[in-house]
Amino acid sequence: MKLAAIIHKGRTVPAVISGGRAHLLPETPDAPGSVEAIVADPGQWLPWVDSHLASRGPGLLLADVRLTTPLRRPGKVVAVGLNYADHAEEGNVALPAEPLLFTKFQSSIIGPGELITWDPALTNAVDYEAELAVVIGRQARNVSLEAALDHVFGYTCLNDVSARDLQFGDGQWVRGKSLDTFCPVGPWIVTADEIADPQALIIECEVSGEVLQSASTADMIFGVAELVSRISHSFTLEVGDLIATGTPPGVGYFREPQRLLRNGDEVVVRIQGVGELRNPVRLD
Ligand code: MG
Repeated sequence: MKLAAIIHKGRTVPAVISGGRAHLLPETPDAPGSVEAIVADPGQWLPWVDSHLASRGPGLLLADVRLTTPLRRPGKVVAVGLNYADHAEEGNVALPAEPLLFTKFQSSIIGPGELITWDPALTNAVDYEAELAVVIGRQARNVSLEAALDHVFGYTCLNDVSARDLQFGDGQWVRGKSLDTFCPVGPWIVTADEIADPQALIIECEVSGEVLQSASTADMIFGVAELVSRISHSFTLEVGDLIATGTPPGVGYFREPQRLLRNGDEVVVRIQGVGELRNPVRLD
């Protein structure tokens, strides 16, 4: 099931995406009021949504609706650095022996179609990073590798937009990764039952019509199950938390010549079986 948040008549309404159409859930007291509510209690809400859809009308054409991010304020975004060997190599750094974790502040999150922007007085080296994002659906603490995927609600696309000058200049990454608008998430959440193997997905980033990253999630150093398990041995993963699983090679900063984001670009993160996350770049 694909769960989206739609802006409809000025309100954000959860919807199911199917066959190019958006089926809005009713805004009644017995309904889940948000995608977050469904993620928080899938045992209650997924059967409810299923039964509601059985009697659905035609829905709205996807092209006619305005999507926003399905998760506006996750408790935390755990991001993984250098999780594809060829990306570590292009940055000329050693492969990590353990997942290299950092965070992106939740205030950096935007939805599909929303603008990526920044202050040119602050940074002049803004880059894209296509990433598979994991949505946690069951609290995880000290979880075994075998049980790890039971804690995954679903998957979405994430663009780990990065100000390279701040990232490398600061000596740690959080500021350069957390500027406002630097965490596009969406276009929807695909529930885990639709992804037979999270390590067998084509992942791409396209900038203004040119495919600049193209890889398979099979190339991750630490796969989704291993990330959930290992992270959960350091701190609790809570329901609704996001894990950004790292980006494959081809980021703009390390290309020759460099291809950094600029005014007027459109960035597309595309993941097989998940969807396409499109964001324009605008500078005033
Ligand atoms: Mg990244």
